[in-house]
Amino acid sequence: MKDFAQAMANFFGGTHRRPAWRKRGQGDGFRIVAVKTGDVRRMSRNVGEVRIPKVGWVRFRWSRAVPGGVKSYRVTRDRAGRWFVAFAAVPEPIPAPGTGQIVGVDRGVAVTVALSTGETGRVPALGDRERARLSRLLRKLARAGRGSVRRGKVRAAITRLRARETDRRRDWIEKTTSELARRFDVIGIEDLNIGGMTRSAKGTPKAPARNVRQKAGLNRGILTAGWGRLAGRLEDKAPGRVVKVGPAFTSQTCNACRHVARRSRDQALFRCVACGHQDNADVNAAKNIRDIAAGLAVNARGGDRDAGPVKREPQRDLLLMR
Ligand SMILES: [Zn+2]
Repeated sequence: MKDFAQAMANFFGGTHRRPAWRKRGQGDGFRIVAVKTGDVRRMSRNVGEVRIPKVGWVRFRWSRAVPGGVKSYRVTRDRAGRWFVAFAAVPEPIPAPGTGQIVGVDRGVAVTVALSTGETGRVPALGDRERARLSRLLRKLARAGRGSVRRGKVRAAITRLRARETDRRRDWIEKTTSELARRFDVIGIEDLNIGGMTRSAKGTPKAPARNVRQKAGLNRGILTAGWGRLAGRLEDKAPGRVVKVGPAFTSQTCNACRHVARRSRDQALFRCVACGHQDNADVNAAKNIRDIAAGLAVNARGGDRDAGPVKREPQRDLLLMR
């Protein structure tokens, strides 16, 4: 009921869609609150037990330290049928290095993220053999009769393979966001919501190059979802240090001379039509994001660059670039 109340509040608050009915196989799980000390105990190095009301003691794999003073936990079952128990705790944010360094992060075409430092990162996907196996399974699924035992088995195998991909992606997002939060004081990223708003609002000042890159790739939806997760985790780990930047023109602007031209961008390469400056297109965009973020970060602190890590959440309005 608590979750439902929150869902309705979100819906009427306009931030979320109307809560949907639950469905078997989708987001299976439940939350237990008012956990008492002693409801969680460690049996051995790798095994723990948790007392679940109406069920009793349930064993789980002690894969990481259970935080002290746990008040609630959530038991979930993913699509691949794996059960998890997650103990709720708000982790300490990662402290800023205090170097004053600002980084811009851009979503890439060929790579997943490009940093203004020139580094690029790619989210791990399925390997060649795994992908071959997946397409084989998909063909098998198409041939399997409806409701047959074989169909169920093939489907389960497909789900396991996809779950493996999801695991890898999430792991990569955790590592990447931790590294960014540890290495840089201020992290500039694109605000995708702004992009969507400008695109739907009117004809659009949004970079045409972006539209190409958004259509590019088979995993667009997954990458977009991954980006939202990456941005969210960054804000968890570096609260007040993430600056969201409107993505308009970041991919068409020359970082050397500021000339804006659609023609400057040719797939993965940026070559400025005005000054001839050349760079990896995603890195060039990341540098623009960094520069915008730098300006906004200063504004958000009232121009005081020596204030150290910003404690408060930056004001959204201040940070929106149009
Ligand atoms: Zn230029």
